[in-house]
Amino acid sequence: MTAPQPSAGLVQRRHLVTELPGPRSRELAARRAAAVSAGVNVALPVFIAAAGGGVLLDVDGNSLIDLGSGIAVTSVGNAAPAVVAAVQEQVECFTHTCFMVTPYEPYLAVCEELARLTPGGHEKRSALFNSGAEAVENAVKVARHATGRAAVVVVDHAYHGRTNLTMALTAAAMPYKHRFGPFAPEVYRVPTSYPLRDPPGMSGAQAAARALSLIERQVGAEALACVVIEPIQGEGGFIVPAPGFLPTIAQWCAEHGVLFVADEIQTGFCRTGDWFACEHEGVIPDLITTGKAIAGGLPLAALTGRAELMDAVHVGGLGGTYGGNPVACAAALASIATMREHDLAGAARRIEAIATPALAALAAQCPAVAQVRGRGAMLALELIEPTTAAPDPALTAQVAHACHRAGVVVLTCGSDANVIRLLPPLIISPDLLTEGLDVLTHAVLHSG
Ligand SMILES: *Cc1c(COP(=O)(O)O)cnc(C)c1O
Repeated sequence: MTAPQPSAGLVQRRHLVTELPGPRSRELAARRAAAVSAGVNVALPVFIAAAGGGVLLDVDGNSLIDLGSGIAVTSVGNAAPAVVAAVQEQVECFTHTCFMVTPYEPYLAVCEELARLTPGGHEKRSALFNSGAEAVENAVKVARHATGRAAVVVVDHAYHGRTNLTMALTAAAMPYKHRFGPFAPEVYRVPTSYPLRDPPGMSGAQAAARALSLIERQVGAEALACVVIEPIQGEGGFIVPAPGFLPTIAQWCAEHGVLFVADEIQTGFCRTGDWFACEHEGVIPDLITTGKAIAGGLPLAALTGRAELMDAVHVGGLGGTYGGNPVACAAALASIATMREHDLAGAARRIEAIATPALAALAAQCPAVAQVRGRGAMLALELIEPTTAAPDPALTAQVAHACHRAGVVVLTCGSDANVIRLLPPLIISPDLLTEGLDVLTHAVLHSG
């Protein structure tokens, strides 16, 4: 398959003409401090003027390699030509009616795509929202309504958003929850499967049994509406559960009338080498939340699920002013078409085939790299202090800063902030990816 062409004019290369951040970015940073809440953090204070394909062009004329995709959003490339054209066409027709007032066809077409693409051949329905957190909130609403039960189970290291209910579902106090409570009740947390930190040899089925026995003793299946879980945990550290963990949980849910909700907001839409990460182990969720990459950079999220669950809700029970905005829907249809036509799931697997050996070679040289993990184009390094094996967030921050200064955008994650994560746009060229990985390798070997 040929890669789609990145948007016009932006050369796909790393090229620095000033130090980073440059003088114009520093001027803007001063304006930011005077106008934007300090609560909104910035990973790399380089202000962007244009972006295309796998590069970001800053206001000082520096061209940076993007290994973050705006947190797994611009999987089809930034300003992807098909997305730009679809948005332009839609925006000239109409910008908003509110689907709940007078509907329009692109909303239907997105829901039809979701029914086709999400796991399982059963009858499905969808509802569209503005943000991932909103989709997760609505998953819980539907699960409670359909089951008549209140409790929700989530796992350690989970991230599901920043609204009140999704803060309750999210694990990490810092930075997401600290002093923002009280939180929504009836949320219970159980251990996940974290192979690097679990007892050696613990299988996925054993990790699931550990979680399920806690659920049975402390919640009880008859009180439980749903289990909400990321098939590969994102913000919590790109944690890939041991094989068997997800299928065992899903099977227990099915046996007990508990809904299995897959939060695929970060993993979905080709990121892990399949359309959805659940497919890797043949898990079919009752409800699935999507967002991020779905619309190539425009704000859109979705809840998709079994028709009988989604249609159980009373008329008018779901919605929102902007949910499924027509411009965002047009962008989603163009993004999905690009993923299909250019086999971006295959592209994610090719990224893994290039990056994994490079990262494994780095790990072999560097005892601070405790593990290389991930799937497809969702890859990470967990960094530790080698003598104690304690998480090393300071080293992780140093590595990220060294990459940033060299013009490569990498992100960090993990409950202990000791994971470097890579989320390149799926259309990134092998050369640009390799150059980014070389910069990262150098940064790890020369930090600390
Ligand atoms: C990003 C993310 C969310 C929240 O999405 P927003 O659009 O930021 O509200 C929820 N779940 C997962 C797994 C995410 O990665």
